[in-house]
Amino acid sequence: MPAKTRQHNVLAAQWTANGGTLEPGALTAPDSSLFGIDVFNTAVQAERLPKTVFARLQKTLDDGEPLDPKLADAVAKGMREWAMEKGATHYTHWFQPLTGLTAEKHDSFFEPTGDGSAIAEFSGKELIQGEPDASSFPTGGLRATFEARGYTAWDPSSPAFVLHNPNGAVLCIPTAFVSWTGEALDNKIPLLRSMDALSKSAIRALRAFGDKAAVRVFTTVGPEQEYFLIDEQYFYERPDLYTTGRTLFGSKPPKGHELDEHYFGSIPERVLACMLETEQELQRLGVPVKTRHNEVAPAQYELAPIFENSNVGSDHQQLTMQVLQNVARRYGLVCLLHEKPFAGVNGSGKHNNWSMGTDTGINLLDPGDTPAENIQFLFFCAAVIAAVDRHQELLRATVANVGQDHRLGANEAPPAIISIFLGDELERAFKAVASGKAADSTAGNFLGLGTPVLPPLPLHGGDRNRTSPFAFTGNKFEFRALGSSMSLGMVNTTLNTIVAESIDMMTDRVEALQAKGKSLEQAVLETVKSTWKKHKRIVFGGDGYSGAWHKEAVKRGLANLPTTPDALPWLVDKSTIKLFENYDVLSERELESRFEVAVEQYSTKLNIEGETAASIAATMILPAAIRYIAECREAGVTQVEKAVRAKTDRLVKELRRLEKANENHPSEEGLELARYMRDKVIPAMDGVRAEADALERVVPDDLWPLPKYSEMLFIK
Ligand code: ADP
Ligand code: MG
Repeated sequence: MPAKTRQHNVLAAQWTANGGTLEPGALTAPDSSLFGIDVFNTAVQAERLPKTVFARLQKTLDDGEPLDPKLADAVAKGMREWAMEKGATHYTHWFQPLTGLTAEKHDSFFEPTGDGSAIAEFSGKELIQGEPDASSFPTGGLRATFEARGYTAWDPSSPAFVLHNPNGAVLCIPTAFVSWTGEALDNKIPLLRSMDALSKSAIRALRAFGDKAAVRVFTTVGPEQEYFLIDEQYFYERPDLYTTGRTLFGSKPPKGHELDEHYFGSIPERVLACMLETEQELQRLGVPVKTRHNEVAPAQYELAPIFENSNVGSDHQQLTMQVLQNVARRYGLVCLLHEKPFAGVNGSGKHNNWSMGTDTGINLLDPGDTPAENIQFLFFCAAVIAAVDRHQELLRATVANVGQDHRLGANEAPPAIISIFLGDELERAFKAVASGKAADSTAGNFLGLGTPVLPPLPLHGGDRNRTSPFAFTGNKFEFRALGSSMSLGMVNTTLNTIVAESIDMMTDRVEALQAKGKSLEQAVLETVKSTWKKHKRIVFGGDGYSGAWHKEAVKRGLANLPTTPDALPWLVDKSTIKLFENYDVLSERELESRFEVAVEQYSTKLNIEGETAASIAATMILPAAIRYIAECREAGVTQVEKAVRAKTDRLVKELRRLEKANENHPSEEGLELARYMRDKVIPAMDGVRAEADALERVVPDDLWPLPKYSEMLFIK
């Protein structure tokens, strides 16, 4: 029998662009740019909608007012005509349930007229509100199944778009997903509420600083997305990959990333072809993709867009994950978004670059060129430091999921301990304020540094600390602990709300000091000083991977929450509930529902992993080992036979342990089940894996039923 895997490797290494050849030449002409051509954006609206309708829609959006139904009819008409010209036959409300994925239910534009023909129908009613049967989406007890209805509501601040398929197109309308009792069932509503909260607090602070021009502050997000691409042959030969997204078995290959040849290396032609088409599709959808490169692990890559406001940026991030996966298939590849698809090889994260900017174009986390801008910057920067310190456990909880447990704290990704990296210059500036050296700042000696302004902070300096979970990078903070598969929703909802709270606390203090006769500058510096003193424990510039830091962090009283069941309870901690209720971002019930859904997802996913591992071990790996034993016996090589038999016996023993762990779940669900999965099922899976991987190293290649790491990672 010829080695099956060898044949597959040869096939995998050959590829043709079955997506058809693109015509990149035409793209360099300015008028043939693809950017946004499938988006019903402001420019298209201006062209398509009657003047008065357009003006009223813009005003509604600017003022954040509810939409007049009559206006919706006119918008719907323009939107439908535009979409049908693009080939759309159907429309869908596109929303983000608590699974972290997107959901859609398509309806045709066409309705029969009764005389045997059909006309295209799509009114304001259908634009504004939809009623998907919501009973099968996770709600964490917010809605009993007998009151299954939830509805989707149009979010006019995120533009509609047309998704193409080889056989047609669909108009997608970004929507929020709510229960009939008005509770958020999705990731968008809380994000929008948190953006309002932060805007209010930041505008209030800006008024104290004498800024009368800004009306709104937007939070911005620029996510860097890491992912793997492997040949689809291997993917579909591995039930663990297509069922759970990660390899539950696989011996470490002789070649890993020790050679450091992959990071920023030249991109393989097939992969580059795939990236180019992915980027074109994203551009059509108005996603401002910008950067691409190889990542650290073999077969790992990264894509980053230019930042946008948090709501649109989060929607675009969901689209990015979808398009990455769709386009990969056209090149015979599969895109893996799991946090840790391969054990012993770097996993994939997502970096959430975050800042706040005014509608007048000022980035509040940009140090600026004047002493006045500098103190304003220090104020907002200190607010972020205080917020992250105050709610470190909550932030940790927002990045907890089953895939992350293999990654966070594993010396390839940020530690599970949240801390902030500021960089030398900025840390020195805060220390100067704290030591009082800056308090008597006369112009010319601001901050005691001999210059009137902060020294320019290195934007992308070489000394950037890659081990820090939360780093200042020149004019924004980068939260680096997100997992590759995650929605940006809850993370940014949390960032916005905790910073709003800190800004308010600090503004209260500034105003109180001013009332006592202090100048604005004195009041702000004093506030920054006390904030720094109280929260500087969260600032750490050293090596986040070192054992010394873990000890030091304990001394500083920082939280170390290594696993998902450790972190999730912080979603419903008293401090969390108070925070979100104060800012009308999430009610206690909404938080509880999120907590329940997250806990359930963790246990459910681990159960799927446990059962998949047991099934692969029993039906693929064990039979291979038995065949080898039989071959050895037939050939009369007793010594080898004995050794393989011993390994096989150990596999069987571990398999029984896993099967038991899979069967004997505790009767209590929720956290108790989650802890059981962590403490019993994961170790049992690891036990089976260790024995299976040992067998992989001795069983003949043509008998081994699964593609190996060296094949999946290195054949491109
Ligand atoms: P690196 O890999 O060095 O961190 P990249 O250039 O890959 O840097 O990514 C930087 C990211 O930061 C980009 O996605 C960019 O859009 C984002 N970004 C830049 N400025 C802001 C800002 N003001 N707010 C949010 N994100 C930002
Ligand atoms: Mg980065």
